[in-house]
Amino acid sequence: MSHDLRVEPVTARQCIHTKNIYSLLDMSPKDEAYKNLSRHIENCPVCSKEFQKFQTKISAAQVYIPKAVMDRDLRQSFEREVSELFKVLQLNEREALKHKVKSKFKTIDQMGIEFLGTLASKQMIKIYVVAAAMYAALKYFS
Ligand SMILES: [Zn+2]
Repeated sequence: MSHDLRVEPVTARQCIHTKNIYSLLDMSPKDEAYKNLSRHIENCPVCSKEFQKFQTKISAAQVYIPKAVMDRDLRQSFEREVSELFKVLQLNEREALKHKVKSKFKTIDQMGIEFLGTLASKQMIKIYVVAAAMYAALKYFS
């Protein structure tokens, strides 16, 4: 990609390169694109103004945006914290799963108890007695 990074006239209030300022965060200072863009920002009043605003925002949000933290040690410690956090989250997830399985079993138990309750109800006992009588009668007459 060969961008024309010529400086816009001073009177211009907009610059097509302004939106690219934000991509500086994803670039390495060694990148040619990074060098070109930062050179452009230095020379373009529109972009340099926007970049200043952007930098103010970054320093305000530095804690929340790890990418904005250019310092390698800080970034590493952030990543460590995040992975620790994920470990804890996964543990919680596992606990939640266990709980879910347990409650499923509870439901089955309750269903079983209800089923036994139905079996033991008077209505069912009557049916058993009739069935047993029929069974005995069939046995007797066959
Ligand atoms: Zn510009």
